[in-house]
Amino acid sequence: MKLRVLGCSGGIGAGLRTTSLLIDDDILIDAGSGVGDLSHEEMSRIRHIFLTHSHLDHIAYIPLLVDSIFERIQNPVIVHALPETIEALKKHIFNWTIWPDFSVLPAPEKGVLRFTEMNAGDVTRIKGRQIELIPVAHIVPAAAYRVQFGARSFAFSGDTSTNDSFWDVLNTHDSLDLLIVETAFTNREKKLAELAKHYCPSSLAADLAKLKHKPKVYLTHLKPGEEMAILSEVKVAIQYLQIKTLTGGEVFQI
Ligand SMILES: [Zn+2]
Ligand SMILES: [Zn+2]
Repeated sequence: MKLRVLGCSGGIGAGLRTTSLLIDDDILIDAGSGVGDLSHEEMSRIRHIFLTHSHLDHIAYIPLLVDSIFERIQNPVIVHALPETIEALKKHIFNWTIWPDFSVLPAPEKGVLRFTEMNAGDVTRIKGRQIELIPVAHIVPAAAYRVQFGARSFAFSGDTSTNDSFWDVLNTHDSLDLLIVETAFTNREKKLAELAKHYCPSSLAADLAKLKHKPKVYLTHLKPGEEMAILSEVKVAIQYLQIKTLTGGEVFQI
């Protein structure tokens, strides 16, 4: 299984893209501004988008993606997400005011976008890859995903603050090779992290202690300009794991 990081920043700016991970060439997890770097050929190979939650930095490029590949694709792009996330997309994005409803375009029975609900514990299987939805704790209903192919696996936290569900579910599995976990703020901004329901290094360290596996750990969703400060605080707080920051464009073979 190949994992390509299209975007992993907590903001935008030269060289910075918001969250989107490409699995092989057909599955996206989140569709932030990183999607915009794909060629039309690459975009048209995307068949599934798994969303962590409804916030703009994670969904912003779905409308533009389907509009850009509209005439190239034969089958709909399937968006998998929590019911609340799908509801938010339908109500606030694909509402004919912000963007047309591509689930009924070019024709009602032939829409290029299809929504499929997933709930806690649901596993979607696509050509040997198993994608499991795990609930996490953010200011809107939010999910993490654990993705397995054969004996290899990785997990992506999405946006979250302190929780037990993510760590408990990961511990029910035999192994975890790679963990991508958010740390949006420095410890200095702990109050803001708590309000916005994100991790800071100290709350991440407290939660990582719950994990029985020893995966390689990559930090994501770091606030632009704070990347090095967050990484060094995390390294002080967590010394028993190999931890790096995730980089846009990075490719993993898992
Ligand atoms: Zn969020
Ligand atoms: Zn976010």
